[in-house]
Amino acid sequence: EIKIQMKNISKVFETEDMETHALKDVNLTIYKGDYVSISGPSGCGKSTLLSLLGLLDMPTSGEYKIEGVDVSNLSLDEAAEIRNSKIGFIFQSFNLIDQISVFDNVALPLRYRSEAMSTTEIEQRVNKCLEMVSMTHRAQHKPNQLSGGQQQRIAIARALVGDPAILFVDEATGNLDSNTGDQIMDVLEQLNQNGTTICMVTHESRYADRATKQFKLLDGEILTTPTNRESNVNNT
Ligand code: ADP
Ligand code: ADP
Repeated sequence: EIKIQMKNISKVFETEDMETHALKDVNLTIYKGDYVSISGPSGCGKSTLLSLLGLLDMPTSGEYKIEGVDVSNLSLDEAAEIRNSKIGFIFQSFNLIDQISVFDNVALPLRYRSEAMSTTEIEQRVNKCLEMVSMTHRAQHKPNQLSGGQQQRIAIARALVGDPAILFVDEATGNLDSNTGDQIMDVLEQLNQNGTTICMVTHESRYADRATKQFKLLDGEILTTPTNRESNVNNT
């Protein structure tokens, strides 16, 4: 089952008298259950690719589909709606709101949905996601009462609460010491083993190497067909 498909995606930035071809004919297919890493040096196009994947920006040309739905050419409102319902995003800076509880932070994406969800269902979903990241005991704390690693776990729960098609991860360990970073990677791997599809963008090769499909980006181009650590026999 295909979750994400990019075909010949290009992105050109025009500034004054200069054109930057940030992405050139990128082809990328991500299947249900994949654990993908995309890595490459500074300036190779990682952030650009992530903002296209996360529907923060639109490509100059090419086709992008999420679960078979064409999302190559959306208005800002349409993009926001799909982002909220189909995409989970983990940032380097956890982007939690310190004024409200952990529970309310995780519930936020559900409360912003256009279709209202019952309080009971919100509660069930939030509690389940807090359990998945072993943070049930911190539901009533405020984010700034937690360590960085705990805050990233809360951010992961928030990304999962809407049951997204895919989880995009942007340098999730960048603000954490290496022990805590490793634990966050363990959480992500555990989620993947339980079925969550993950696409991680990183410049850290020791984390990129742990993914089951590894893509390298260089000068806006995907260099290689992925290295598969495990064959994905169920990808139909
Ligand atoms: P990375 O995240 O791998 O460091 P980026 O995606 O940020 O790479 O950048 C890829 C290329 O696109 C770089 O040459 C960068 O200067 C250029 N670029 C990125 N965003 C913009 C923008 N908004 N306007 C002009 N050029 C940009
Ligand atoms: P950093 O990782 O450097 O702390 P951010 O976490 O704020 O920076 O954003 C990293 C990337 O995530 C940016 O390239 C941006 O395009 C993308 N991004 C920011 N906000 C969202 C969002 N709401 N949904 C999807 N992608 C986002």
